[in-house]
Amino acid sequence: MTFRFIPLLGVSLLGLAAGVTSALAAADEKLKSAAEQEKAPLIETLRDMVMIESGSSDVEGLKRMADFTEGRLRALGAATERRKTTAGAGADMVIATFKGTGTRKLMLIAHMDTVYQRAVLASEPYRVDGNRIYGPGIADDKGGIAVVLHALKMLKDAGWQDYARLTVAFNPDEEVGSIGSGEIIAELADQHDVVLSCEPTAASPPAKNDSLLLGASGTATGIMKVKGRAAHAGAAPDRGRNALIELSHQLLQTQDIAKSIPGTQLNWTTAKAGTVRNQIPEDAEAGADIRLTLPDGIAKLQAALDEKIKNRLVPDTETTVKIVAGRPPFVASERGRALAEMGQAIYAEIDRKLDITEITGGATDAGYANRSGKAVVVESFGLAGFGYHARDEFIDTNSIVPRLYLMSRMLIEQGKKK
Ligand SMILES: [Zn+2]
Repeated sequence: MTFRFIPLLGVSLLGLAAGVTSALAAADEKLKSAAEQEKAPLIETLRDMVMIESGSSDVEGLKRMADFTEGRLRALGAATERRKTTAGAGADMVIATFKGTGTRKLMLIAHMDTVYQRAVLASEPYRVDGNRIYGPGIADDKGGIAVVLHALKMLKDAGWQDYARLTVAFNPDEEVGSIGSGEIIAELADQHDVVLSCEPTAASPPAKNDSLLLGASGTATGIMKVKGRAAHAGAAPDRGRNALIELSHQLLQTQDIAKSIPGTQLNWTTAKAGTVRNQIPEDAEAGADIRLTLPDGIAKLQAALDEKIKNRLVPDTETTVKIVAGRPPFVASERGRALAEMGQAIYAEIDRKLDITEITGGATDAGYANRSGKAVVVESFGLAGFGYHARDEFIDTNSIVPRLYLMSRMLIEQGKKK
């Protein structure tokens, strides 16, 4: 997109008539040079955060991350709160509130936890190599937190207060499905006009350009249970009803069931049956990983499974399937798409290209923020990175200035009264 958004266009046309166009361009230049100046401090913040190991079950490490980020948000002028997560390891969320002089309600989200186990730094230390900085969680999602903290620093220095309320929420359990923070994020998001979520964008290579993201899979867990009848496996096997055999039959006949329901995916991934060798197993159970890009995908899948399992192999056995919803799918609205297009125009101001990614298989908290459809939600305002959930995770330092510029310019635009 090459347009300047309407409000700006209006102003610059007016400016042309009044001869103040240069003042507008200068304002952008000012923000750009502020972003350039903020690059080194952002890297320092990143280093500090990578040195704090904060795996999703590492309550002590997560407390240190919460202390660190809460302190920084307070220094920026926010009122902060530690909110207990409602399930899981029991770490706190950090919720910061800034009160401004405008009318719009804006929210930024990112997560403090990583997928890595304690002591990962011993084998994967923080290290700089050219324009790459390596470290566990550096892209996913400490880079996102760093963008939030330093864009807000730039805007504070610029005296920006054009919002009614600006909320920052950092959660400690995103990598385990936000089981104890998702509902809080959804509830907070509904009190806002706009939510910018700060997961990483893919670095080059393999990505050609930085991007913003408009969709992500939701998750769910499928649980299949078979009830059979126990019997002596040596003396009277025929008196038994083998739950393991029936489970195998059911898994085979349902393995492709999601293929007929576009927007859903199901893979059986766990199973257990029986307790001892010499008994026909009475119980068997399997678990499925389910991904959805449809809000009603769970209901459709449930109906299809319920129909299919009526076809039994072992008589007298009873099979049930239950789908437990996880993170909701993220499907951005048309307003979300417009916001992402505004991001492209902002990138164009600094001669960079921004891609819009329609969908990713990974789940994100944008799904919770977007669940009710009240707020406009867009994902991937974090730094460009690669190797997350793997080894040698890194961020590309060339993305720092564009991302700071994007976040700060976007907040300024979104703060304007609509
Ligand atoms: Zn993440």
